[in-house]
Amino acid sequence: MSKKPVMTTSAGAPIPDNQNSITAGARGPVLLQDYQLIEKLAHQNRERIPERVVHAKGWGAHGTLTITNPDISKYTKAAAFKPGAKTDMIARFSTVAGELGAADAERDVRGFALKFYTSEGNWDLVGNNTPVFFVRDPLKFPDFIHTQKRHPKSNLRSATAMWDFWSLSPESLHQVTILMSDRGCPVAPMFMNGYGSHTYSFWNAKGERHWVKFHFKTMQGHKFFTNAESEREIGRTRETYQEALFGAIEAGDFPKWKVQMQLMPEKDAEKTSYNPFDLTKVWPHKEYPPIDAGVMELNRNPDNYFAEIEQVAFSPSNIVPGISWSPDKMLQARIFSYADAHRYRLGTHYESLPVNMPKCPVHHYHKDGQMNAYGGIRTGNPDVFYEPNSFNGPVEDKTAIEPPLGISGDAARYNHRDGNDDYVQVRALFNLFDAGQKQRLFNNVADAMGPNLPKEILERQLGHFDKVHPDYAKGVRAALAAKSATKVAAE
Ligand code: NDP
Repeated sequence: MSKKPVMTTSAGAPIPDNQNSITAGARGPVLLQDYQLIEKLAHQNRERIPERVVHAKGWGAHGTLTITNPDISKYTKAAAFKPGAKTDMIARFSTVAGELGAADAERDVRGFALKFYTSEGNWDLVGNNTPVFFVRDPLKFPDFIHTQKRHPKSNLRSATAMWDFWSLSPESLHQVTILMSDRGCPVAPMFMNGYGSHTYSFWNAKGERHWVKFHFKTMQGHKFFTNAESEREIGRTRETYQEALFGAIEAGDFPKWKVQMQLMPEKDAEKTSYNPFDLTKVWPHKEYPPIDAGVMELNRNPDNYFAEIEQVAFSPSNIVPGISWSPDKMLQARIFSYADAHRYRLGTHYESLPVNMPKCPVHHYHKDGQMNAYGGIRTGNPDVFYEPNSFNGPVEDKTAIEPPLGISGDAARYNHRDGNDDYVQVRALFNLFDAGQKQRLFNNVADAMGPNLPKEILERQLGHFDKVHPDYAKGVRAALAAKSATKVAAE
C-alpha cells in the first residue's frame, strides 16, 4: 500500500488523534485548549455562505463553445467568435424562486448562465430558458421577486401576491404564458433552450455595431413535465436535474446546444414597431432570422460542487472587446446588481476564485480587501501598485474602446406602457400552440391561481387573457370551473 499523507491542522501541524477529544480524565469534560476540536466545529459552522436571493438552486458543468460559422467574425472582433474558435466555458442552470434545497422539477423559469473563458477575458451571458422576462423596468424587479418568494407572515408562497402583481403589470403576460406552457417545466437542463434574453451588441474592427440576441437551441429536443408528472417526480426525488445532468455527463452522453444569434443593424432600432431593447419582447424570426454560429457542449462535471457551481459568479458586466451592452434598462441594472451580489455573498475578490478566474493574464490595480488570496494587485511587480507609474506597470489598451453608443432624449421617468403593445406577441405565441398545448396552458394557469384567489385579481387577469385571445380567457375560466367542480365532488 502507498504511504498515506499525514493529516494536519489548517496551519499544517500534524494531527496526532482525530478520534478522541482532549478531556480532563476519561469521563470529561473537554478542555478549551483542544484547538483541533474547536477548529473542526468552527469550520463546520462556516460551511454555508449566503444563498443567492434568486436562482439559489442550481446544477452545472464545464464544456466548450465551438464556432462553426466563419461569417460571425464580420460582426464582432471577439476572439471567441473567430472562425473555428474553441473556448472553454462553464454553465449553471437554476430555478428562480426556490431556495437551495428546493425540488428541481418545479414549474419555474430556469436560469441559463454561461461563462466563457476567452483569451480576452471572461465573457458571461446570464440568461434564462425563455426569450423574455416578466418586467421591463428594473425598478419593478425587487417587488416582482418579493411576490415569488415567501409571504412575510405565513412564510408560504402566495398565489394572491403573484397574480396581483402580474395582473397589475400586463408586460408580464408574455413570460407568464411561457411559464404556464409546456416549456415552463422542462424535464432536465438538456431538454430546454437557453436565451441571452437581453439585447446585446456586437462591434467589429471597423467600429460597426449590430444589436444581437443569443439563442441556445437544445439538440436533445424539448421535453417537459405536466403538473401531474412533476408532482410524481418530486415525490420520487427532489434532485431530478442534478441526477440527469451529472449522470449524463458521467456516462459520456454530452448535452449540446446549437448556438444561434439574431443580428439587427444599429439603425434598425429606430424603426421596429416594438422597442428592440424591451425585455418583454422577442424579435420576430421572420424579421431577424436566427443565424447558426456554432455548438456548445457540456462535457465535464465539476470535481467539487461548492467550489465550482455554488461559487461560480456570473455577471452581465463581464463583456470582452467586440461584445457590448444595449440600452435595455433591465440589462443596465443587472450590470450593477450581479457583480454587487457576488461581492456580498462571495467577497470582494470573488474573481480570484479558481472557477471565476480568467484563463488569460490578469493585471489590475485593485488593492487589498476580503479574499485577497492570490496576490491582490495583479501587476506582477510589487512597486507597481498605482497607475500611471514609471515602472512599466500595466497600461490601457486603446484598441478595446468600443464605438460610441448613440443616446438621445431627455432624462425622465418614461412610462414604457404608453404605446407599447403587451398583447400582440403573446397572441403570436398562443396561436402557435395546438389544442393539447392550449389545454395544458389553461390547466396550469388554473392550478397556479388556486381556489382562493380574490375575485378582483382573478377578473383583472382574465381581462388580460381575453385581450390576448378570447379563447385564452374562456379556456382558463373553464379549467377553473372544472377544478372547483372536482373539489366539490370530492368533498
Ligand atoms: P415564429 O413562428 O417564426 O417563431 C416561432 C418560435 O416560437 C419558434 O422558433 C420557437 O422558438 C418558438 N416556439 C414554438 N413553439 C413554442 C412553444 N410551444 N413554446 C414556446 N415557444 C415556442 O414567430 P415569431 O418569431 O414571431 O415568434 C412567435 C412567438 O413565439 C413570439 O411572440 C414568442 O412568444 C415565441 N418565441 C419567439 C422567439 C423569437 O426569438 N422570435 C423565441 C422563442 C419563442 P425557438 O426556436 O427559440 O424554440
